[in-house]
Amino acid sequence: MEVVAPQQEIVEVIKNFGGSAFSKCYQCGMCDTVCPWNRVGQFSMRKLVREAALGLTEIENEDIWRCTTCGKCPLVCPRDVKQIESGIALRPIATEFDTFAGAAAPIPGVAASLRAEGNPFGEPRDKRAEWAGSLGVKNFAEEMEFLYSPGCYLSYDPRAKRIATATAEILQAAGVSFGILGKAESCCGESIRKTGDEALFKSLARQNIAAFITRGVKKILVSSPHCYHSFKNEYPEFSAHFAVVHISELIFQLLQEGRLKLTKPLGQSVTFHDPCYLGRHNGIFEPPRAALKFVPDLELREMPESRMNSFCCGGGGGRIWMETPKHERFANVRLAQAMATGAQIMATSCPYCITNFEDSRLGLPADGPGIVIKDITEIIRDAL
Ligand code: SF4
Ligand code: SF4
Repeated sequence: MEVVAPQQEIVEVIKNFGGSAFSKCYQCGMCDTVCPWNRVGQFSMRKLVREAALGLTEIENEDIWRCTTCGKCPLVCPRDVKQIESGIALRPIATEFDTFAGAAAPIPGVAASLRAEGNPFGEPRDKRAEWAGSLGVKNFAEEMEFLYSPGCYLSYDPRAKRIATATAEILQAAGVSFGILGKAESCCGESIRKTGDEALFKSLARQNIAAFITRGVKKILVSSPHCYHSFKNEYPEFSAHFAVVHISELIFQLLQEGRLKLTKPLGQSVTFHDPCYLGRHNGIFEPPRAALKFVPDLELREMPESRMNSFCCGGGGGRIWMETPKHERFANVRLAQAMATGAQIMATSCPYCITNFEDSRLGLPADGPGIVIKDITEIIRDAL
């Protein structure tokens, strides 16, 4: 294995990239006890921290790319090692050496697509608003209340586009004043930042902020918890402050105010999966559940690992773009947990979660009990 530089030098490089908290670790191992990797593989955050503190980081080892930034281990660390920031601080070093080990191989291609077209798929920027074509969704104008920012997955991914459609139909049913940016919208940049590409994150953020400000945007409605996190918690680093609302919050508000009325009974049981960046990172636990409870004849069932203790789907930290072998997929574990509740539907509210759970669902035996994966907007829209 290649060690990138003499030990003391690499310790300084890691510190410069924001990983100075490594030195506080006293190797208790608490992080590994809660990490979802301990259910599927051998990755150890404790070991990664130890190697970094000694300047022994191996950039050819895929381990530096494994953390999904789920947010669980920082909750239990007695020394405030800031595992997410510290772990990400290793990635720019690998990027500098153009070394993308194992599953991280797609990252340079994703970054190139983001630079060229503002999305990770390499799809033309001009097609960003195609999903909205037949729905009568307008471009944002200053007199509108919300800028709706669907994000990259809901704009391009065939499965996720159905969530964008459901969202627009809900907003129209409730008479919400909203518009979109279309091709002027770029990726929020949250996930590419987690791969260590700070320069690209800043470029995307600046493009979006300029587009928001020139159009007089004040309130941004988002579907992706990753966009939510970025707009709300990261864009203020550029002195850009917008009111950011997640779709689950707005739907709950519209239901409470009587602007949305749900009349069609579901007649099924639902279990809700808390996305890491909606729940643990941003504290939005109740609105999606409260909204679902408005659906007639919907029985809500909880998984034992829920809310702050939710089990990551595996898509954060840039992992959504990496190929994870089947036996290492967190989503397989989570899907089994959802099915153990006996629920017929697994609901969530994040395009990364939907993508990963749909993939895992394809691996279920055809003759066994199945489960349907739905975004909460699809359930609410179908109950209108
Ligand atoms: S929980 Fe914190 S102190 Fe304990 S091993 Fe992990 S990083 Fe180190
Ligand atoms: S943030 Fe989550 S995935 Fe990353 S090391 Fe901690 S527990 Fe594991």
